[in-house]
Amino acid sequence: MSNELFADIIIEISHEQLDRPFQYIVPQELKDMIKVGDCVTVPFGRGNKILTGYCIGLGDHAEYPMDKLKYIISVRTDQVSTDGEMIALAWWIKVHFGGTMIQALKTVIPMKKKVALKTAKRVDLKVGSDEIVPLIEECDRKHQTARLRVLKALLEDPTLPYELVRDKLGVTGATLKSMEEKGYISVTETEYYRNPVITDEVSHKTYDLSDKQKNIIATVTNDFDSGNPGKYLIHGITGSGKTEVYIGIADHIVRKGYQVIVLIPEISLTYQTLLRFYKRFGDRVSVVNSSMSQGERYDQYLRAGRGDIDVIIGPRSALFTPFAKLGAIIIDEEHESSYKSENTPRYKATDCAEYRAKNAGAALVLGSATPSLESYYKAKSGEYELFTMDERLTGGSLPGVHIVDLREELRNGNRTIFSDKLRELMDEKLALNEQVMLFINRRGVAGFISCRSCGYVVKCPHCDVSLTEHRNGRLVCHYCGYTSRMPEVCPECGSKYIAGFRVGTEQIETEISKMYPASRILRMDADTTKEKGSMENILRTFKDHNADILIGTQMIVKGHDFPLVTLVGILAADMSLSVGDYRASERTFQLLTQAAGRAGRGTRPGEVVIQTYQPEHYSIVSAASQDYRAFYDEEIIYRELASYPPVWHLLAVLTVSDSEDAGERLSEEYAGIANACLDEKKENGKPDGYTIGPAPAAIGKIRDKYRNVLYVKSVNSDILVYIKDKIETYMHENPDRHTNTFFDFDPLGSV
Ligand code: ADP
Ligand code: ZN
Ligand code: ZN
Repeated sequence: MSNELFADIIIEISHEQLDRPFQYIVPQELKDMIKVGDCVTVPFGRGNKILTGYCIGLGDHAEYPMDKLKYIISVRTDQVSTDGEMIALAWWIKVHFGGTMIQALKTVIPMKKKVALKTAKRVDLKVGSDEIVPLIEECDRKHQTARLRVLKALLEDPTLPYELVRDKLGVTGATLKSMEEKGYISVTETEYYRNPVITDEVSHKTYDLSDKQKNIIATVTNDFDSGNPGKYLIHGITGSGKTEVYIGIADHIVRKGYQVIVLIPEISLTYQTLLRFYKRFGDRVSVVNSSMSQGERYDQYLRAGRGDIDVIIGPRSALFTPFAKLGAIIIDEEHESSYKSENTPRYKATDCAEYRAKNAGAALVLGSATPSLESYYKAKSGEYELFTMDERLTGGSLPGVHIVDLREELRNGNRTIFSDKLRELMDEKLALNEQVMLFINRRGVAGFISCRSCGYVVKCPHCDVSLTEHRNGRLVCHYCGYTSRMPEVCPECGSKYIAGFRVGTEQIETEISKMYPASRILRMDADTTKEKGSMENILRTFKDHNADILIGTQMIVKGHDFPLVTLVGILAADMSLSVGDYRASERTFQLLTQAAGRAGRGTRPGEVVIQTYQPEHYSIVSAASQDYRAFYDEEIIYRELASYPPVWHLLAVLTVSDSEDAGERLSEEYAGIANACLDEKKENGKPDGYTIGPAPAAIGKIRDKYRNVLYVKSVNSDILVYIKDKIETYMHENPDRHTNTFFDFDPLGSV
């Protein structure tokens, strides 16, 4: 008996009651081949149905009588062999963010889809340097803009990956084909894209890195080489050379024989950025994105597992690339909300990256111009090493910022959404044939209530967040459920101009086209970017100066470089400030800083107009002066006083139920469990946290399902995990077909 081998198997059925490992006996003939992470087939249940499962542990000890245990049937070799590390990561995610093991596994491992392995294609320039210039002129004359883009790009780099040209330059296969037929270019299939730089390094310009850049790269790589991979936060303004630092670190680590994961938000995966990585790593770099099919993702996964690539670049999910020798995880724009999953498990990529880096002995490098409070807090407490880069390497001066008080405008009789200052500057810039961006902060358009005379915002007396107007006209607090009537006059100044603030991009477009009938206007928001490629199209049109004014939501402020933009107007800066959640100031500061950073990127100086009802608010003042530290110092005090993350931790337990009563009852039950846990864990007679609610969620009912939320706050995040476990145990013991329960740790907004 002693040399039997037992395996803990997670069965692939997404059902909470089956969400625990089952023990199986490993038959003699499989003993040598099975390992943690393998995909296996096993008989399951009374009918011995043959099901697929994953091995999450092996041992020589039977936890049940031998005659109760069944044998594993086979180890599946057609599946990617997900190593133990990935399975362990899934387990950690399940434990720390809730949900089932199957959901966690599906997050970490792409579904198997058989695909023909893709061969890479490349585009080569076929005409000589004397011919290309007349060709470019001809395309320009004929307004063949797609061809023009291809030729211009090839003029700089005579060989480019096909995908980059098609997806990022937005050129159709048909256009490329016709260019090929004319003999301008050739499209060849190679096994992978081969980079000419690898063999011919001199043909490309390389910078002399600044001392700052060299110093950061040296610190990170020396720590790595000496076996002490660290955790670092690079706080660097846009254009300060962070990407060059990432490339330098990755290059060093790849040369040592390790692999690197680089996370970049999807919206920032631009042609320019990708090209910089292609130039350095050639066919050893691969890009993932959310528009890839399951099959394509699976293909990437296989290639990474086989060791065909060294560097992977992509959004959140690229974190789960199964590199065997992971040397570094780099996360650009680490503050981005897209790094947090919106579906169960609601994991945070930065936390998972920290865990994965630790297990793999890899370095963790975070970078941002506006770091999240969480990361900066960790840097201040010494958990991360902090680097600061505060000089723009590209030149271009910081823009001049005007803060306009909208209360003043109303007092002066201006009831439009454009201040006099903004109009004046728009007239001026448009007359000079320069470009203008108008940014409307649409978060919170759901309707907070403010006074247009004095800026007063109606808040919850218990929670220090603004109340939200619901359809029935009542005002509700999303945190504690407090409700009140809509006031008829402003409680502060008695003005009757108190109302929900709702302005959309469409309205602005209409107004602007009346004001500037001769100007070419583009609008970018959720409506105009539904179709694939439409966003790239709008951005390109604007960049090519085929439009004068770009109106848009937060989408337009991220990472795009428009050298001709000399004016950015932020129409209602405080909209996002008054959203009912504790991250409102942080998000406002980030958005304003990014938006302001769009102006004056070229040679001409830029100006920014921030229109606001709260000109003295610290997130507006510090964004205007691009002063992150001033913002952080104020904000962290608020988080401390109000017991919010990162100082405290917050767990939201959401119930979604067919029945109003059942949902409420269950939420009450959870509150009881949470309070009992807090009581059990109390120290020196004082509990280490408290519960808030339960109360109806931000949206109390969606598709006829009732939503209730319970918040638990504690300084100690382990207690919150403990409470989640207890609630999950309760869920297993008391299955409720009518209600689903979701967990969200340190939620990004109100749940
Ligand atoms: P960030 O990622 O912080 O926005 P980048 O790495 O993209 O900064 O650098 C900004 C610009 O400066 C890019 O155009 C890049 O090519 C250029 N750049 C980066 N490092 C240097 C350097 N050492 N010398 C000159 N230009 C540089
Ligand atoms: Zn008022
Ligand atoms: Zn409240």
